[in-house]
Amino acid sequence: MSTSFFAQKHYIVTGGGSGIGLALVLKLAVASAIVHAIDLKASAPPEFEALLETVHYHGSIDVSSRSSVTELYKAITAISPRIDGVVNSAGICPGGDGYIQSDETFQRTMAVNVIGTWNITTAFLEMVDKESPNVGRTVTAPSRTRASIVNIGSSASLCAWPTLTAYTASKHAVLGLTRSWSLDWAHKGIRVNLVAPGGTDTPLARAQLSDPKGRGEALTAGLAMIPLGRLGRPGEQADTIMFLLGDGSSYITGQVIPVNGGFP
Ligand code: NAD
Repeated sequence: MSTSFFAQKHYIVTGGGSGIGLALVLKLAVASAIVHAIDLKASAPPEFEALLETVHYHGSIDVSSRSSVTELYKAITAISPRIDGVVNSAGICPGGDGYIQSDETFQRTMAVNVIGTWNITTAFLEMVDKESPNVGRTVTAPSRTRASIVNIGSSASLCAWPTLTAYTASKHAVLGLTRSWSLDWAHKGIRVNLVAPGGTDTPLARAQLSDPKGRGEALTAGLAMIPLGRLGRPGEQADTIMFLLGDGSSYITGQVIPVNGGFP
């Protein structure tokens, strides 16, 4: 019987309580991984009830708070001293303010999408640094992946969407983090990539499509341009994330993988 690549490996998934993050947690659990699902929501999704052995739910955690993330890592490492992969899926796309977005919208969007990704990943890289300090490039690069980090960007990492200034800026910044970390940590065997979902059927997307201030209309027009003719499914995003976490992507780092039904 072949053993899954993921069996007994340990992963952190932010935004694991809904949508793409939730779909990923379930796939990792099926592949016999140990998963730490992090979310702002206090209660775990009902799907996790049958997975108490493999899925550890850390609720009421705001990834934008560095002190909360520091405490979180203490709890995680008590269970999982070695982490094999980190996925930053927690994200927000607040709507409702039309073409002029408020300071509050901009700051909160940057806090969750950018600083949250920064906090979770930096805490992980600090752990890796303790294993062997990052003192610069070595002549011999590691032949094996020590860990894979997957950031969830968006189509808005690569282009602008109407009335989505804060979100677009935040997702471009997540791409910048991805490229920078991939460069600085490759010689430690850390691969860092970005999945750029197009419209995917989750609570976040459904809220966008019903936004009354023009955005819903613009997004609906955008969806009509998807060659595959439908929204993506969370599991389709999760399949690509699994590929980037797994051994089949061992020579891929610093890349953007659009998963968008062929959206031009
Ligand atoms: P979702 O709303 O279903 O899930 C996001 C999860 O993140 C929620 O459970 C939410 O509680 C959690 N979260 C929000 N703020 C948090 C915080 N401060 N700390 C911890 N957890 C927090 O949305 P989704 O569609 O699954 O989105 C996942 C990622 O995919 C996001 O980064 C989003 O920007 C990106 N994305 C989604 C789409 C889409 O169409 N659904 C398209 C492009 C990119």
